[in-house]
Amino acid sequence: MVIKLHNSLTNSLEEFVPIEPGKVSMYHCGPTVYDYAHVGNLRSYLFADTLRRTVEYFGLDVEQVVNITDIGHLTSDADTGDDKMVKGLKREDLPLTLEGLKTLANKYEQAFKDDLRALNIETPHHFPRATEYLEKEIELVKKLEEKGFAYTLPDGIYFETSKLPNYGKLGGLTPIDESIARLEESGKKSPRDFVLWKLSGDNHLGFESPWGVGFPGWHIECSAMSHELLGQPFDIHTGGMDHIPVHHNNEIAQSEAAYDKPLANYWLHNEFVSMEEDKMSKSKGTGIGLSKIAERNFSPLAYRYFLLMAHYRTPVNFSWEALEAANNAFEKLKRFVGPLSTVGEVDESYKTQFQGKLENDLNTAQALAVVWTLVKDKEVSPENKLATLLDFDKVLGLGLK
Ligand code: AMP
Ligand code: ZN
Repeated sequence: MVIKLHNSLTNSLEEFVPIEPGKVSMYHCGPTVYDYAHVGNLRSYLFADTLRRTVEYFGLDVEQVVNITDIGHLTSDADTGDDKMVKGLKREDLPLTLEGLKTLANKYEQAFKDDLRALNIETPHHFPRATEYLEKEIELVKKLEEKGFAYTLPDGIYFETSKLPNYGKLGGLTPIDESIARLEESGKKSPRDFVLWKLSGDNHLGFESPWGVGFPGWHIECSAMSHELLGQPFDIHTGGMDHIPVHHNNEIAQSEAAYDKPLANYWLHNEFVSMEEDKMSKSKGTGIGLSKIAERNFSPLAYRYFLLMAHYRTPVNFSWEALEAANNAFEKLKRFVGPLSTVGEVDESYKTQFQGKLENDLNTAQALAVVWTLVKDKEVSPENKLATLLDFDKVLGLGLK
């Protein structure tokens, strides 16, 4: 078995070799819990689940972390605008207090976990909350200060990107406004410098730190939590494509500056789900959540099937017509499996084909094609078809049992 994965670090397909034989450590950037997840966000976790199920299918043990961002993610990934959680507090008319924050975070963290369950996503081994790792986050900022990577501005402590020769090594850096005016406005030494600890403004909402009341930067949270739970380096880091330019380059910069070791060996990114050519956006309120799917009487697993029909690095367009088509195929598969009750032997030839598709950068679209060829194959007995489909379902997670 050789699993090949597309590593964004090298922009190429690489053979996956875990640090510790037989074990895989994975970190997936989790949701900012200020609102419901939309079906685009959920693609990131469905992809992470497919990755986990695939490596488990191949006999490896997995340790999986999905963090909960319950503070510190500003409206723009590049540290401008309001904190998204504060935006959520205002929207829901909750007090601008730590208790208010907790109420908001609990609500949407629960909703997120309900979504994962509905999509038959295996529960990650750790769901760390950023607010529960403050000590670690502060320690990391202090370390960066001691090593000369940080400087202070009136509104917070910043990471000095020019101190790290290979800053941006994940690629994908977007063009930025390098004008003097813009720099003078922010006070930063370089436009790409980013906040490590943000001091609270007039609302004094935040946590004590050596620099004053405030909250950790979004990027430092992931660096601190992954280091604490998985060590450094760990095997695989994932997230949506939008995280490449800023968030993931910044996670890499901080962690590598602090510990002089790579953060993760493989970086995998899923493409976006869009609607009518427009990016689905939680902050713009243009997303559709799983509840809207249920309102139209689709099972959340029909959405799972819909996503499996595309390779994770292919952008997909969500429409009700496309979901309907996926649902029809999914229902047909369930109608085929439903009456079968005797479980025979797994068909090894089909299993080899199925595995081959997964080994090739988790090509679930082609793996589903193998499913349908098997269903239609007159040479394979119904008992063996059932055994083989149930075996495949360990990866597909469609609840065919
Ligand atoms: P957020 O809660 O905004 O931090 O996003 C949670 C996850 O969803 C991250 O991995 C994002 O990269 C990912 N994501 C955001 N929008 C989309 C989208 N439209 N399609 C696919 N993934 C997305
Ligand atoms: Zn992250």
